[in-house]
Amino acid sequence: MIDALLAAEELPEEYRDRCQDILCNDCGKKGTYRFHWLYHKCGFCGSYNTRVIKTDTTSCFT
Ligand SMILES: [Zn+2]
Repeated sequence: MIDALLAAEELPEEYRDRCQDILCNDCGKKGTYRFHWLYHKCGFCGSYNTRVIKTDTTSCFT
């Protein structure tokens, strides 16, 4: 459900290349994912029970 919402949602141009470091509260793993202001999905367990520990202002996909 949330996955579908995320896929359909367009981020503003200036946010598209940004990344965030996310810490998962469920599995305790850290990862870097694309910026989103609402939902941050854990890449390991798929949980949305995460928090942002750092936001990069520069692109991480260069
Ligand atoms: Zn997780």
